Amino acid sequence: MDLIQKLKKAKLTGRGGACFCVADKWQMVKKAKGDRKYVVCNASEGEPGIKKDKYLFDNEADEVIEGIMLALEFLPAEKAYIYLNPDYYTELAPKLKKIIGYFPIEVFKKDHSAGYIGGEESSALNHIEGKRIEPRIRPPFPTESGLWGCPTLVNNVETFRDVFLIAKDQYKGTKLFTVGGDCIYDGVYEFPEDIFIEDVLKQTSNYPDFDFFVQVGGNASGTVLNKEQLKQPAMGCASITIHSLYKHNPIELLKYWVDFYKHESCGQCTPCREGFYRLKEVIYASKLDWQAVDKLITNLKDSSFCALGSSAYTPFSSYINNVIKYTSLSFPTHIAPQGMDIKCLPR
Ligand code: SF4
Repeated sequence: MDLIQKLKKAKLTGRGGACFCVADKWQMVKKAKGDRKYVVCNASEGEPGIKKDKYLFDNEADEVIEGIMLALEFLPAEKAYIYLNPDYYTELAPKLKKIIGYFPIEVFKKDHSAGYIGGEESSALNHIEGKRIEPRIRPPFPTESGLWGCPTLVNNVETFRDVFLIAKDQYKGTKLFTVGGDCIYDGVYEFPEDIFIEDVLKQTSNYPDFDFFVQVGGNASGTVLNKEQLKQPAMGCASITIHSLYKHNPIELLKYWVDFYKHESCGQCTPCREGFYRLKEVIYASKLDWQAVDKLITNLKDSSFCALGSSAYTPFSSYINNVIKYTSLSFPTHIAPQGMDIKCLPR
């Protein structure tokens, strides 16, 4: 059985969150016309709360690099880049370069100023090319026109590790989850990819004995779920962060999100650049205007140029729907969530 057949049989989907079929993506780049092809291992890991790239490079760096080499050989591609989070670079680059040896793989240090948006795949390609770090218009997609206009395969660290395991018939259908927040045993854990969120917490001895909610898929853009909503597959949740309702300060969480998004906006498009500026004003005001929050996050969802702007709808709306409206927590009067009639709430 060749590698593509093995990837299809394993039903491997990209571990970066989009869950695109890995076999299809590899074949698209292979079939794309181009004198040169490239491979990018996206190790930017810019979403707060997710630590699995670091974990893999600490523990399974050989497997990841073997996976990248398989891609170089399969396409075939001229060169690969490991697009590495700058916080990891000093510690990890010497180790990775030693493993790479003379193979055509460059460890590329992502700039600190690139921030979260520097991890978006087309922004990463611009960064490697030395251009302004901002998302590109798509189509064309990197599979057709990536680095220097050449077909480029972009996958994340865990995906390359899994490709290697599949090639060696060692893949067990597992996935990495970062567990953190208000828990004792925070860390990176590996479980079958179809495990439920609740079972990840129980099997890591992190299921709280206090009232809580979780944010899955990153501490910024992830979905907020209450404790009754955890009997669902954790697939796609690279992280599970626990929030104690007793320690919880709603306005501080809203401020954390809006500060993150306003800081990370690349400024290329008006809805995101101005939208988060306005949202910050609303959230920092002495009385929270939920109607304004609703309008701004809906506008961000509908008109932002890239996923950073549109993704803000997810934490804000899921928090309102699944926590504020769900819990009996008494909120400070200046937040006054009771009686809200806003579009992102179920009617
Ligand atoms: S949505 Fe935000 S991050 Fe994305 S292109 Fe527009 S300004 Fe930049």
